[in-house]
Amino acid sequence: MSLNGQFQAAQGTVLARATCECCGGAVQIKANKNGGAYYYCGHADDQGTQCCHSQRWGQRISWALRKAYREAGETPVKATLPLKIGRSEVPAAAAKPANADNPPADNIDAAPEKRAAESRGGLFG
Ligand SMILES: [Zn+2]
Repeated sequence: MSLNGQFQAAQGTVLARATCECCGGAVQIKANKNGGAYYYCGHADDQGTQCCHSQRWGQRISWALRKAYREAGETPVKATLPLKIGRSEVPAAAAKPANADNPPADNIDAAPEKRAAESRGGLFG
């Protein structure tokens, strides 16, 4: 399912504010013409060299940013990078916390159930 049609934001809309993952400068996460979220960092260091780092996100993160922007009353939200897909998207095995308090299952060291060893007679008996 395409998420690009939901919570549409005009191209150039500032969806969120964050700090550049490279240089730590403040950046604005904007929507591109498809609603995809991206930023471009124009911060320069003491020598005047620009960071130029950029990031863009796929439709799931972009959708979440547009939704947050909309729900905040169409004001940019504060985002902390890196942005990741939410917990509910994590595979169940990875999301399940290890529970050290659980006792081991009974019979965990028991030998596997023996197979029937009845004589069948004939060749294999
Ligand atoms: Zn930067």
